[in-house]
Amino acid sequence: MIKAAYPGSFDPITHGHRDLVERAARQFDEVVVAIANNINKKTMFSIEERVDLASAVLAHLDNVTVAPVTGLIVDFTEQLGATAILRGLRAVSDFEFEFQLASMNRNLKPEIETLFMTPAEQYSYISSSLVKEVARFNGDVSMFLHPLVLEQLQQKLAQA
Ligand code: ADP
Repeated sequence: MIKAAYPGSFDPITHGHRDLVERAARQFDEVVVAIANNINKKTMFSIEERVDLASAVLAHLDNVTVAPVTGLIVDFTEQLGATAILRGLRAVSDFEFEFQLASMNRNLKPEIETLFMTPAEQYSYISSSLVKEVARFNGDVSMFLHPLVLEQLQQKLAQA
């Protein structure tokens, strides 16, 4: 039974994240999407909203669950009984930070392996932050988000 944790902010979940989880769900027995509750990082959606949106978008995948995480990802991963941390790589620009993170996590817990996956080409340049920025200026981001996520993003922007 091979379990993997896929950590991130998911603020909010995009088709890039969804694509990665669908690929991972075919490779692992179980995937846990770990939504970081980092008080130092200002997010548009609360931890509860991010968990609810990701759960709705990923509901079609039987071996995928979504959970909030407060502490260290390596500790969460170990407690789950998972052996891998999954991260997505888009362009070369992601590499430097991901390399640092993977090296730090290996230092903290050598038995946990960080694995990288790439999304389908059409999602290789999208990020939650870019999608939010474009939406803020009324750009059409419907091709990058689940309809429920799009609706809640539009509601947030209307309240702002
Ligand atoms: P973080 O704040 O930890 O970077 P994100 O929610 O932005 O959290 O991303 C979580 C993970 O998903 C990261 O490994 C990130 O590189 C990856 N990711 C984000 N968007 C995409 C995408 N479009 N395609 C592939 N991976 C992605």
